[in-house]
Amino acid sequence: MPLVMFKKDDVCRLGAVREGKVVDLYAANSRIPSDMLSFLEAGEAAMEAARTVLDDPPGSCIYPLSEVTFRAPVPNPRKVFGIGLNYTDHAVESGRPIPPEPVLFNKLPTAIIGPNEPILLPEESDEVDYEVELVCIIGKRGRRISKEDAYHYIAGYTVGNDVSARDWQLRKPGGQWLLGKTFDTFGPIGPVLALKDEVPDPHNLKIMATISGELLQDSNTNEMIFKMNDLVAYISQVVTLEPGDLIFTGTPPGVGNARKPRRFLREGDVCELEIQYIGKLVNPVRADKDRE
Ligand code: ZN
Repeated sequence: MPLVMFKKDDVCRLGAVREGKVVDLYAANSRIPSDMLSFLEAGEAAMEAARTVLDDPPGSCIYPLSEVTFRAPVPNPRKVFGIGLNYTDHAVESGRPIPPEPVLFNKLPTAIIGPNEPILLPEESDEVDYEVELVCIIGKRGRRISKEDAYHYIAGYTVGNDVSARDWQLRKPGGQWLLGKTFDTFGPIGPVLALKDEVPDPHNLKIMATISGELLQDSNTNEMIFKMNDLVAYISQVVTLEPGDLIFTGTPPGVGNARKPRRFLREGDVCELEIQYIGKLVNPVRADKDRE
């Protein structure tokens, strides 16, 4: 039951993909919340109601993919975390030591966009880079979560692009990464929220980035240094995790900044990021025309 947020006739709603079509869960049962945050907050009862709908959905609530547009599966997360240098080879290619503890930064919710929405190249940066990442989506509120319990707090996973302005990330005074990571549109996610029970092992998935037809990242999530449960436990020492919070869990090697010659995103590029069992996230790259 891959979950999506989709738009049809100017209305954005929660749905599930079934047999290559979208089932409008709210239209089938108005007690199922119509947005992802409320759905996740409603917990197992809502999940069960969705499963019941999908067993035998009314025909009027099933739409062909041609009639809908997928949006970010969590369009309005309250918090977005990023993990730096979480693949050994990427730390090496970045010229950084293997971190003894997770390296955290944030993206702000205004960076989030969905599949097929353009990544906008800001005039303020000349070094905009791609990073394919497995994104963990929190399903349940919790603080000081143990590593053993962490999976109870995870709803599932999606594909993310941790788009990064390297000039802002690495060479602005202060040595923190926030600004380089959080330009508007720098957080594409999607197309689906794959429920955790439907992904065999999140730490053994092929993970790839193809930019304008060229395969530039090609790895496996088994290379991650800190696993999903480590990250949930680590972060929740400090903050309460809430349904819909996103954790970008780090990128494998092959980013543009580490290539020789360096390969940054250009107007007209297409980013195709794929993770086994989860899906393929496609975003075109455009210049930001909306600037004064
Ligand atoms: Zn990253």
